[in-house]
Amino acid sequence: MKRDTWIVTKSSSRPAGKPDRCFYCSNLIGEEHKQDCVIRNKTVVMDFTIRLVVDVPEYWTEDDIEFKYNKGTWCADNLVQMITREDNSCLCPHVEAKFIRDATRDDEENWGLIRVEDLES
Ligand SMILES: [Zn+2]
Repeated sequence: MKRDTWIVTKSSSRPAGKPDRCFYCSNLIGEEHKQDCVIRNKTVVMDFTIRLVVDVPEYWTEDDIEFKYNKGTWCADNLVQMITREDNSCLCPHVEAKFIRDATRDDEENWGLIRVEDLES
């Protein structure tokens, strides 16, 4: 989802740049950021697929396993602990990111963690 205006504020200046302008596009505080300025963001819908190995009872079928993780009492918040690697190696070899579409207002409200209107400008 895009928003209509991106006015340069103090938050887009940086210590290494001039204090009266955006560090990235150089437009002054109070002006619009340039169209290709990295401060202008949009929200998008993404799928992140994580392939991991888990242990389950030996006799369980595919249906049993998918029931546990999709319809049982298991909470997906447990994924955070399941993907934390004790050897501190990263997840990059196990994750695939896929762009789905530009987000809508409904997508933002459903996800509940980011709204383009709240991003600093
Ligand atoms: Zn800018």
